[in-house]
Amino acid sequence: MSEIESLLREDLRGKTAYGAPQLDVPFALNTNENSYAVPAAVVDEIVAAVAAVAPGLNRYPDREFTDLRGDLAAYLSRSGTAVSPEQVWAGNGSNEVLLHLLQAFGGPRRAALGFTPAYSMHPIITATTGTTWIDGLRGIGDTSGPFDLSLDSAVSQVTEHDPHLVFLCSPNNPTGTALGLDVVEAVHDAAPRAVIVVDEAYTEFARPGTPSALTLLAGRPRLVVTRTMSKAFAFAGGRLGYLAADPELVDALRLVRMPYHLSSTAQAVARAALRHADTMLATVDVIKEQRDRIVEALPGLGLVPVASDANFVLFGGLRDSHRTWQALLDHGVLVRDVGIAHYLRVTAGTPEETSAFLEAIASLGPDHL
Ligand code: PMP
Repeated sequence: MSEIESLLREDLRGKTAYGAPQLDVPFALNTNENSYAVPAAVVDEIVAAVAAVAPGLNRYPDREFTDLRGDLAAYLSRSGTAVSPEQVWAGNGSNEVLLHLLQAFGGPRRAALGFTPAYSMHPIITATTGTTWIDGLRGIGDTSGPFDLSLDSAVSQVTEHDPHLVFLCSPNNPTGTALGLDVVEAVHDAAPRAVIVVDEAYTEFARPGTPSALTLLAGRPRLVVTRTMSKAFAFAGGRLGYLAADPELVDALRLVRMPYHLSSTAQAVARAALRHADTMLATVDVIKEQRDRIVEALPGLGLVPVASDANFVLFGGLRDSHRTWQALLDHGVLVRDVGIAHYLRVTAGTPEETSAFLEAIASLGPDHL
């Protein structure tokens, strides 16, 4: 053990950091970003917004990001569920918002439960706060697919472990499907001392008939819905994630955040993007078409796609997922090995990206199946 390792917290020794490769390849389809660049009109507005705040950068930003909260509340309210600024919290990406939740409601001698496979950062963020992670399971009981979460199984796992936080990822990364609100409600009721976090990072891509858990917030002060501008909103580099919850829960997050955690530029840039919400979201329909194109094409190649409500597709039927991952990379197509044997995940983006991916995988030949 190195000297540094011996100084490191015991529970972090030997761990590997989150590491989706950032490679310079023609087709980067591994982190579920939006492939479309920020439109020129919005770029101009972002530049003007930065210029407007620049002289004031000698001062700390508005610690309570009041205007941004108002804008995010207005944006969420467009869904038809009224959300007030006091119900909104934000951070540098929804990862930071999740961290704040764990810092406030997790910690030593407390446990968080998620249903694996789900977003890989849920257990990692949980561990950084000294919270115990409980690996709940999918595909148990009466489910149509191997990665579905049935209401009965979710309720029995939550009842058995009685955690302090529960993560429900809907649509779920990396498997793609959204959860019924009946499952969210049932988990909420089965875990009376838990904060229930519904991670809706991909909700804008959901197929019709998939309501958001925002509609369940009223009367459920322990329920939290997290969102991000990184995916549908084409703003991953802007690092702006947010949540909606009960005002008292939101207020508690002020106990753990670093003062001034959202810089003046981050606030101004996010507000400029939100003023152009429709333009920023204009690519969602094209991306959904590409996702559906991937789902429809893969069976013809002998592969098994999982139904998706997100901007990515998990597909199985591979003999050796790591070997296929490398072979695709050799064709300039970077997809994600999510650590599920015989499966890979690909992000849906432009029609050209879909074609490149499908052509590359078709060219690999039957020994990959
Ligand atoms: N939740 C889920 C389910 C995700 O897939 C991601 C990003 N991959 C995030 C949260 C975090 O995104 P960000 O920090 O960019 O908002």
